[in-house]
Amino acid sequence: MKQIVLHRNSPYRVKVIRWRMLTAMQIRRRLVLRRFAGGGTFFCMLLGNMDRHTAQGAVAGAVVDRPRPLVILDPGHGGHDPGATGVSGTLEKDVTLASAFALKASLEAEGRYRVELTRTQDHYVAPDDRVDIAHDLGASLFLSMHADQLADPAVRGASVYTLARRASDAETEALAERENGLIAGGDGRLAHAPPEVSGILASLAARETRAASTRIAHQLVRDLRRRLPVLPSPERRANFTVLHAAGIPSVLIEMGFLSNSEDEAALNDPAHREVIARAMTRAVNAWFAAPRDDGLL
Ligand SMILES: [Zn+2]
Repeated sequence: MKQIVLHRNSPYRVKVIRWRMLTAMQIRRRLVLRRFAGGGTFFCMLLGNMDRHTAQGAVAGAVVDRPRPLVILDPGHGGHDPGATGVSGTLEKDVTLASAFALKASLEAEGRYRVELTRTQDHYVAPDDRVDIAHDLGASLFLSMHADQLADPAVRGASVYTLARRASDAETEALAERENGLIAGGDGRLAHAPPEVSGILASLAARETRAASTRIAHQLVRDLRRRLPVLPSPERRANFTVLHAAGIPSVLIEMGFLSNSEDEAALNDPAHREVIARAMTRAVNAWFAAPRDDGLL
Protein backbone atom coordinates (compact mmCIF):
# COMPACT_ATOMS: atom_id res chain seq x y z
CA MET A 1 0.00 0.00 0.00
CA LYS A 2 1.56 3.24 -1.07
CA GLN A 3 1.32 6.36 1.06
CA ILE A 4 0.88 9.74 -0.52
CA VAL A 5 1.22 12.90 1.51
CA LEU A 6 -0.74 15.90 0.31
CA HIS A 7 0.49 19.18 1.67
CA ARG A 8 -1.67 22.23 1.88
CA ASN A 9 0.03 23.65 -1.19
CA SER A 10 -0.44 20.54 -3.24
CA PRO A 11 -2.01 21.26 -6.61
CA TYR A 12 -4.58 18.58 -5.90
CA ARG A 13 -7.98 19.38 -4.53
CA VAL A 14 -9.36 16.69 -2.30
CA LYS A 15 -13.03 15.97 -1.96
CA VAL A 16 -13.88 13.77 0.96
CA ILE A 17 -16.97 11.70 0.59
CA ARG A 18 -18.85 9.01 2.47
CA TRP A 19 -18.51 9.74 6.20
CA ARG A 20 -18.68 13.44 6.05
CA MET A 21 -18.52 16.12 3.43
CA LEU A 22 -15.51 18.31 3.90
CA THR A 23 -14.25 20.90 1.51
CA ALA A 24 -10.60 21.38 0.77
CA MET A 25 -10.77 24.60 2.76
CA GLN A 26 -11.74 22.70 5.87
CA ILE A 27 -8.79 20.37 5.50
CA ARG A 28 -6.09 22.50 6.99
CA ARG A 29 -3.74 19.74 8.07
CA ARG A 30 -1.93 17.45 5.75
CA LEU A 31 -3.62 14.29 4.68
CA VAL A 32 -2.07 10.91 4.48
CA LEU A 33 -3.67 9.02 1.70
CA ARG A 34 -3.38 5.29 1.43
CA ARG A 35 -3.76 4.42 -2.13
CA PHE A 36 -5.79 1.44 -3.15
CA ALA A 37 -5.65 -0.18 -6.52
CA GLY A 38 -8.01 1.45 -8.93
CA GLY A 39 -7.95 4.74 -10.65
CA GLY A 40 -8.09 7.79 -8.56
CA THR A 41 -9.87 6.45 -5.50
CA PHE A 42 -8.16 6.83 -2.20
CA PHE A 43 -8.84 6.27 1.43
CA CYS A 44 -7.62 9.02 3.63
CA MET A 45 -7.09 9.75 7.28
CA LEU A 46 -7.31 13.29 8.49
CA LEU A 47 -4.41 14.22 10.70
CA GLY A 48 -3.90 17.29 12.77
CA ASN A 49 -5.37 18.00 16.15
CA MET A 50 -7.79 15.10 15.99
CA ASP A 51 -7.23 12.25 18.43
CA ARG A 52 -6.78 8.77 17.07
CA HIS A 53 -10.37 7.74 17.69
CA THR A 54 -11.77 10.78 15.90
CA ALA A 55 -9.29 10.34 13.10
CA GLN A 56 -10.36 6.76 12.61
CA GLY A 57 -13.95 7.89 12.55
CA ALA A 58 -13.07 10.34 9.86
CA VAL A 59 -11.53 7.74 7.60
CA ALA A 60 -13.36 8.30 4.41
CA GLY A 61 -13.31 7.47 0.78
CA ALA A 62 -11.83 10.34 -1.10
CA VAL A 63 -11.43 11.24 -4.69
CA VAL A 64 -8.43 13.22 -5.73
CA ASP A 65 -9.84 15.64 -8.24
CA ARG A 66 -8.12 17.49 -10.97
CA PRO A 67 -5.58 20.05 -9.73
CA ARG A 68 -6.79 23.22 -8.08
CA PRO A 69 -7.50 25.94 -10.64
CA LEU A 70 -4.57 28.04 -11.75
CA VAL A 71 -4.90 31.82 -11.71
CA ILE A 72 -2.33 33.67 -13.80
CA LEU A 73 -1.52 37.21 -12.70
CA ASP A 74 0.05 39.40 -15.36
CA PRO A 75 1.90 42.43 -13.99
CA GLY A 76 1.91 44.87 -16.89
CA HIS A 77 5.11 46.08 -18.59
CA GLY A 78 8.62 45.49 -17.19
CA GLY A 79 12.25 45.93 -18.21
CA HIS A 80 12.69 48.49 -20.95
CA ASP A 81 8.92 49.03 -21.01
CA PRO A 82 8.08 51.13 -17.92
CA GLY A 83 4.41 51.65 -18.84
CA ALA A 84 2.86 54.84 -17.49
CA THR A 85 4.90 57.32 -15.44
CA GLY A 86 3.28 58.98 -12.42
CA VAL A 87 3.21 62.65 -11.55
CA SER A 88 5.87 61.95 -8.91
CA GLY A 89 7.81 59.59 -11.11
CA THR A 90 6.24 56.27 -10.10
CA LEU A 91 6.62 53.66 -12.83
CA GLU A 92 3.66 51.53 -13.75
CA LYS A 93 5.86 48.43 -14.14
CA ASP A 94 6.83 48.65 -10.42
CA VAL A 95 3.28 49.23 -9.17
CA THR A 96 1.89 46.35 -11.22
CA LEU A 97 4.54 43.92 -9.97
CA ALA A 98 4.05 44.88 -6.31
CA SER A 99 0.27 44.63 -6.71
CA ALA A 100 0.53 41.22 -8.36
CA PHE A 101 2.66 39.93 -5.48
CA ALA A 102 0.05 41.22 -3.00
CA LEU A 103 -2.75 39.53 -4.94
CA LYS A 104 -0.77 36.29 -5.24
CA ALA A 105 -0.35 36.17 -1.46
CA SER A 106 -4.01 36.98 -0.89
CA LEU A 107 -5.23 34.30 -3.32
CA GLU A 108 -2.83 31.67 -2.01
CA ALA A 109 -4.04 32.34 1.52
CA GLU A 110 -7.45 31.08 0.39
CA GLY A 111 -5.93 27.64 -0.18
CA ARG A 112 -8.09 27.06 -3.25
CA TYR A 113 -5.93 28.20 -6.11
CA ARG A 114 -2.53 27.85 -7.63
CA VAL A 115 -1.18 31.25 -8.62
CA GLU A 116 1.59 32.10 -11.07
CA LEU A 117 2.89 35.41 -12.40
CA THR A 118 3.89 36.09 -15.99
CA ARG A 119 6.91 37.89 -14.59
CA THR A 120 8.37 38.03 -11.08
CA GLN A 121 11.15 40.49 -11.81
CA ASP A 122 11.70 43.74 -13.65
CA HIS A 123 12.13 42.27 -17.09
CA TYR A 124 10.31 42.59 -20.36
CA VAL A 125 7.82 39.93 -21.39
CA ALA A 126 6.24 40.27 -24.83
CA PRO A 127 2.43 40.26 -24.87
CA ASP A 128 2.21 37.08 -26.91
CA ASP A 129 4.51 35.37 -24.43
CA ARG A 130 2.18 36.41 -21.60
CA VAL A 131 -0.69 34.73 -23.41
CA ASP A 132 1.49 31.67 -24.14
CA ILE A 133 2.39 31.36 -20.47
CA ALA A 134 -1.31 31.22 -19.59
CA HIS A 135 -1.89 28.55 -22.25
CA ASP A 136 1.17 26.49 -21.44
CA LEU A 137 0.39 26.37 -17.74
CA GLY A 138 -3.29 25.59 -18.30
CA ALA A 139 -4.71 28.70 -16.63
CA SER A 140 -8.33 28.87 -15.53
CA LEU A 141 -8.26 32.64 -15.23
CA PHE A 142 -5.94 35.41 -16.49
CA LEU A 143 -5.81 38.79 -14.74
CA SER A 144 -3.63 41.49 -16.33
CA MET A 145 -2.81 44.29 -13.89
CA HIS A 146 -2.09 47.86 -14.94
CA ALA A 147 -2.24 51.54 -13.88
CA ASP A 148 -3.23 54.18 -16.39
CA GLN A 149 -2.10 57.70 -17.28
CA LEU A 150 -4.07 60.57 -18.81
CA ALA A 151 -3.40 64.19 -19.64
CA ASP A 152 -6.15 65.26 -17.21
CA PRO A 153 -4.70 64.95 -13.69
CA ALA A 154 -8.16 65.04 -12.11
CA VAL A 155 -9.27 61.70 -13.52
CA ARG A 156 -8.93 58.85 -11.05
CA GLY A 157 -10.41 55.47 -10.28
CA ALA A 158 -10.17 51.83 -11.25
CA SER A 159 -11.69 50.15 -14.30
CA VAL A 160 -11.93 46.64 -15.78
CA TYR A 161 -11.63 45.60 -19.45
CA THR A 162 -12.58 42.58 -21.51
CA LEU A 163 -11.71 41.67 -25.10
CA ALA A 164 -13.81 42.97 -27.98
CA ARG A 165 -13.17 43.60 -31.65
CA ARG A 166 -14.55 47.11 -31.33
CA ALA A 167 -13.81 49.26 -28.34
CA SER A 168 -16.76 50.24 -26.15
CA ASP A 169 -15.76 53.92 -26.42
CA ALA A 170 -13.04 56.17 -27.79
CA GLU A 171 -11.24 56.47 -24.46
CA THR A 172 -10.95 52.72 -24.18
CA GLU A 173 -9.75 52.39 -27.77
CA ALA A 174 -7.00 54.86 -26.97
CA LEU A 175 -6.18 52.98 -23.79
CA ALA A 176 -5.88 49.68 -25.70
CA GLU A 177 -3.53 51.36 -28.16
CA ARG A 178 -1.43 52.66 -25.28
CA GLU A 179 -1.30 49.30 -23.52
CA ASN A 180 -0.72 47.26 -26.67
CA GLY A 181 1.88 49.69 -27.92
CA LEU A 182 3.67 50.17 -24.64
CA ILE A 183 3.63 46.49 -23.84
CA ALA A 184 4.91 45.38 -27.19
CA GLY A 185 7.13 48.27 -28.10
CA GLY A 186 8.79 49.48 -24.94
CA ASP A 187 11.48 51.01 -27.06
CA GLY A 188 8.95 53.57 -28.22
CA ARG A 189 8.07 51.72 -31.39
CA LEU A 190 4.37 50.98 -31.69
CA ALA A 191 3.52 47.33 -31.78
CA HIS A 192 2.08 45.72 -34.84
CA ALA A 193 -1.67 45.85 -34.80
CA PRO A 194 -3.01 43.03 -32.66
CA PRO A 195 -4.14 39.99 -34.62
CA GLU A 196 -7.66 40.14 -35.93
CA VAL A 197 -9.93 38.76 -33.26
CA SER A 198 -13.11 38.36 -35.28
CA GLY A 199 -12.34 34.69 -35.99
CA ILE A 200 -11.60 34.04 -32.36
CA LEU A 201 -14.72 35.79 -31.18
CA ALA A 202 -16.95 33.97 -33.64
CA SER A 203 -16.48 30.50 -32.26
CA LEU A 204 -18.73 28.93 -29.70
CA ALA A 205 -15.82 28.32 -27.35
CA ALA A 206 -14.93 31.98 -27.62
CA ARG A 207 -18.47 33.01 -26.77
CA GLU A 208 -18.26 30.90 -23.66
CA THR A 209 -14.90 32.37 -22.77
CA ARG A 210 -16.23 35.85 -23.38
CA ALA A 211 -19.23 35.18 -21.15
CA ALA A 212 -16.93 33.94 -18.41
CA SER A 213 -14.67 36.97 -18.89
CA THR A 214 -17.66 39.28 -18.61
CA ARG A 215 -18.72 37.59 -15.39
CA ILE A 216 -15.35 38.08 -13.73
CA ALA A 217 -15.31 41.69 -14.97
CA HIS A 218 -18.75 42.31 -13.39
CA GLN A 219 -17.61 40.72 -10.17
CA LEU A 220 -14.36 42.67 -10.07
CA VAL A 221 -16.17 45.96 -10.58
CA ARG A 222 -18.68 45.04 -7.88
CA ASP A 223 -15.98 44.24 -5.34
CA LEU A 224 -13.51 46.98 -6.29
CA ARG A 225 -16.10 49.77 -6.12
CA ARG A 226 -16.90 48.87 -2.51
CA ARG A 227 -13.38 49.86 -1.49
CA LEU A 228 -11.98 52.13 -4.21
CA PRO A 229 -12.99 54.97 -6.47
CA VAL A 230 -13.89 53.65 -9.92
CA LEU A 231 -14.35 55.37 -13.26
CA PRO A 232 -17.84 56.18 -14.52
CA SER A 233 -18.91 53.11 -16.55
CA PRO A 234 -15.98 51.16 -15.10
CA GLU A 235 -16.52 48.04 -17.18
CA ARG A 236 -15.31 48.52 -20.75
CA ARG A 237 -14.16 46.57 -23.79
CA ALA A 238 -11.44 46.82 -26.42
CA ASN A 239 -8.93 44.79 -28.39
CA PHE A 240 -6.17 44.29 -25.83
CA THR A 241 -3.40 41.99 -27.04
CA VAL A 242 -2.90 40.33 -23.66
CA LEU A 243 -6.56 39.26 -23.56
CA HIS A 244 -6.22 37.00 -26.60
CA ALA A 245 -5.80 33.70 -24.78
CA ALA A 246 -8.26 31.35 -26.45
CA GLY A 247 -10.41 29.49 -23.96
CA ILE A 248 -9.09 31.30 -20.89
CA PRO A 249 -11.33 33.93 -19.30
CA SER A 250 -9.18 37.07 -19.29
CA VAL A 251 -9.57 40.61 -18.00
CA LEU A 252 -7.33 43.64 -17.72
CA ILE A 253 -7.61 45.78 -14.60
CA GLU A 254 -6.50 49.39 -14.47
CA MET A 255 -6.07 49.93 -10.73
CA GLY A 256 -6.00 53.71 -10.96
CA PHE A 257 -4.29 56.63 -12.67
CA LEU A 258 -0.64 57.44 -12.04
CA SER A 259 -1.40 60.85 -13.57
CA ASN A 260 -3.61 61.56 -10.52
CA SER A 261 -1.60 62.35 -7.39
CA GLU A 262 -4.07 60.64 -5.02
CA ASP A 263 -4.19 57.45 -7.06
CA GLU A 264 -0.41 57.49 -7.45
CA ALA A 265 0.13 57.86 -3.69
CA ALA A 266 -2.41 55.11 -3.02
CA LEU A 267 -0.81 52.69 -5.48
CA ASN A 268 2.56 53.30 -3.84
CA ASP A 269 1.09 52.37 -0.44
CA PRO A 270 1.33 48.65 0.42
CA ALA A 271 -1.80 48.96 2.62
CA HIS A 272 -3.79 50.22 -0.36
CA ARG A 273 -2.43 47.47 -2.60
CA GLU A 274 -3.59 45.04 0.07
CA VAL A 275 -7.09 46.54 -0.12
CA ILE A 276 -7.08 46.01 -3.89
CA ALA A 277 -5.79 42.46 -3.45
CA ARG A 278 -8.51 41.57 -0.96
CA ALA A 279 -11.25 43.06 -3.15
CA MET A 280 -9.96 41.14 -6.16
CA THR A 281 -9.71 37.95 -4.09
CA ARG A 282 -13.37 38.29 -3.10
CA ALA A 283 -14.27 38.68 -6.76
CA VAL A 284 -12.22 35.64 -7.77
CA ASN A 285 -13.80 33.59 -4.98
CA ALA A 286 -17.29 34.60 -6.08
CA TRP A 287 -16.49 33.88 -9.71
CA PHE A 288 -15.19 30.38 -9.05
CA ALA A 289 -18.04 29.64 -6.62
CA ALA A 290 -20.81 30.71 -9.00
CA PRO A 291 -22.68 27.99 -10.86
CA ARG A 292 -21.50 27.91 -14.44
CA ASP A 293 -22.66 26.23 -17.58
CA ASP A 294 -19.81 27.25 -19.83
CA GLY A 295 -17.68 24.15 -19.33
CA LEU A 296 -14.79 26.33 -18.20
CA LEU A 297 -13.54 25.62 -14.73
ZN1 LIG B 1 -0.30 49.32 -18.60
